[in-house]
Amino acid sequence: MSAKVESNVSLKPYNSFGIEATARHFAQATSDDEVRQLLAYAATEDLPALVIGGGSNLLLTQDVTALVIRMSSSGIRLLSDDGQRVVVEAEAGEPWHPFVQWTLEQGLVGLENLSLIPGTVGAAPMQNIGAYGVEIKDIFAGLTALDRQTGDLRDFSLEECGFAYRDSHFKRNPGRWIILRVRFVLSRVAPLHLDYGPVRQRLAERGIEQPTAKDVSETICSIRREKLPDPAELGNAGSFFKNPVISAVLADRIREQHPGLVAYPQLDGEMKLAAGWLIEQAGWKGYRDGDAGVHRLQALVLVNYGQATGEQLHALARKIQDDILERFGVELEMEPNLY
Ligand code: FAD
Ligand code: NAP
Repeated sequence: MSAKVESNVSLKPYNSFGIEATARHFAQATSDDEVRQLLAYAATEDLPALVIGGGSNLLLTQDVTALVIRMSSSGIRLLSDDGQRVVVEAEAGEPWHPFVQWTLEQGLVGLENLSLIPGTVGAAPMQNIGAYGVEIKDIFAGLTALDRQTGDLRDFSLEECGFAYRDSHFKRNPGRWIILRVRFVLSRVAPLHLDYGPVRQRLAERGIEQPTAKDVSETICSIRREKLPDPAELGNAGSFFKNPVISAVLADRIREQHPGLVAYPQLDGEMKLAAGWLIEQAGWKGYRDGDAGVHRLQALVLVNYGQATGEQLHALARKIQDDILERFGVELEMEPNLY
């Protein structure tokens, strides 16, 4: 077997919360063959297997007895280019943001609003990553995954991935599929998405009237650096809760008592509430209990000031969920994957 299985490996460098947890068995998979070898090893040793990428959407609440397989495959290729539409494929272990930058260097439009999201290409379809008005479903061309039940490879089309708001077929069927590579359909001519939040205004402030995709990416990177804690300096997993989507009737009822409610109408008539606003109104912004806290600038982000355990962060999350349910009658769902 070419992949090397190590014992009792600290997962602290492998999760963006910086939580200290130990993997009893740990290996990096750099190819499809190594993924298969490691799954065969896990079966022989009667171990479950946990696949991770960059660990930026994980909350580790205990040591992991499974074989942790970190996807470390690399490779980016152009599959087709008709001068306007370009299909690009990247291996699961490719880090997301450098991949986005690579597409921008090729003059391709499509991924710029998704700049500076941590993690890997292979994990991006798990929750249909999204930011600044774009989700990967908008530029998704397909993916190849290994079915852990049968050992077969399968290609998934856009429809088959069942993408929804921060959700997918893969997230709804945890542990079944290992995403090996993902394809995106990008463009040399597509229009840019500038209408979300402060993007257009920030471009204007930089004196840019005819922005390129690279300009948009740089602007979004600078907004994100101002608002979000860098996991290298302060452990976090980005937004800890999904923005709840509720009925317009319930949104109206909440607005009667909270006229400042931040809510965005959805195509189906429901309303998406800004979870960060609810948490801030409830007074949690900047809260700290030991080393577990709520970020002082962004109430949606839970942070680890150093030695917080996953259980402490989880306990804080549950307190916030209970409080928001009591105050607003709204259930907050956790976004990171809990282990
Ligand atoms: P991991 O955390 O390693 O894994 C996440 C889940 O996917 C786990 O369940 C894991 O088992 C599974 N998984 C990982 N790789 C594979 C694979 N190849 N095949 C099958 N299953 C797999 N998310 C957004 O949507 N938008 C944002 O704007 C955003 N901003 C963020 C900002 C910060 C500062 C941070 C820390 C996080 C942010 N996130 C955001 C969340 C996170 O970065 C994304 O969800 C990212 O796609 C997770 O990738 P990862 O490789 O780190 O996944
Ligand atoms: P923000 O701009 O302060 O906006 C707060 C919330 O309002 C966002 O969550 C966003 O929902 C919603 N919103 C704002 N403008 C909207 C519009 N024009 N139409 C529909 N919804 C709108 O948010 P932020 O925290 O700084 O994040 C900026 C973007 O990066 C958001 O898209 C956010 O999802 C993404 N982000 C995600 C994570 C993560 O871990 N998932 C972490 C950091 C940032 P949406 O979230 O649905 O866009």
